[in-house]
Amino acid sequence: ETLDKGLEKSSSSFLNKLSKAIVGKSKVDDEVLDDLEEILIASDVGVDTTLKIVERIEKRVAQDKYFGTDELNKILREEITTLLIESEKGGNIDSVDSLPKPYVIMVVGVNGVGKTTTIGKLAAQFKKEGKSVVLGAGDTFRAAAIDQLQIWADRVGVTLIRQNMGSDPASVAYDTVQSAVKQNADVVIIDTAGRLHNKVNLMNELSKIKRVMQKIKPDLPNEVLLVLDGSTGQNAFEQAKQFTKATEVTALAITKLDGTAKGGVVIGISDQFQIPVKYIGVGEGIDDLQMFDKVEFVDSFFK
Ligand code: GDP
Repeated sequence: ETLDKGLEKSSSSFLNKLSKAIVGKSKVDDEVLDDLEEILIASDVGVDTTLKIVERIEKRVAQDKYFGTDELNKILREEITTLLIESEKGGNIDSVDSLPKPYVIMVVGVNGVGKTTTIGKLAAQFKKEGKSVVLGAGDTFRAAAIDQLQIWADRVGVTLIRQNMGSDPASVAYDTVQSAVKQNADVVIIDTAGRLHNKVNLMNELSKIKRVMQKIKPDLPNEVLLVLDGSTGQNAFEQAKQFTKATEVTALAITKLDGTAKGGVVIGISDQFQIPVKYIGVGEGIDDLQMFDKVEFVDSFFK
């Protein structure tokens, strides 16, 4: 229900445009395919993934000479669903039980994309499932980042491990994991700084955080969650490119899908970077974070 509400803008807009493109037509011809290409690109699917989708549709049109515009919807749905990657690695809010304790999530992403909010929402959901959560204020570059996270920690009722602004993020991460191990906590969520302007620094900082955690347990972090703002189109693609170069990203959280008519970024980024989409943000509220379900997503996109 929330998903439908949250994604209303993207879905109506995509389908409206598609309906307009095929009105009065019985066959999927070159003109319809050109329109489809334009609509997908305008929905932030990205050029490469758009061309991939259009090519697949083209092939199916060529194979089946009775393929009409009334079937385009269904076939397009199938192709997009095939491209989307869901998270199967576990560590989900409802299945973290089966995992080694603590399950450590390192959260990366540029400032302003909704990193803090996503951490707060995640902590709330894990807690709702009866899990104990420890947060780590690893963005020590901005005092505001630590304070914002403290507000969320208080609101959700979880511990935040923090040091002074300017301290070593790796040291905060170490303290956080150590504290979680001591408390036998279920989940650790560590924030990191979101400055992209210095790529070498970013890479070094993230590697150091990982290295230091690995002194406690060699397989940490269990998850590197990249948060992207779904309403920023090309910027989100660029950030995904930079962060996947800087560290091994294992899952995506795509935020602000309630505020955009272009949910296609989810499709393009998942396909381009072959990283599963794990969460989507559909509002500013504490409950406005959902596990990504590709069938549900595509349904709402086409509704
Ligand atoms: P950070 O700098 O990446 O930590 O970003 P914040 O978590 O502080 O979020 C920046 C702004 O985006 C805040 O006003 C949040 O309320 C808002 N925000 C975060 N996620 C969502 C979302 O899914 N939908 C909407 N509409 N706003 C969001």
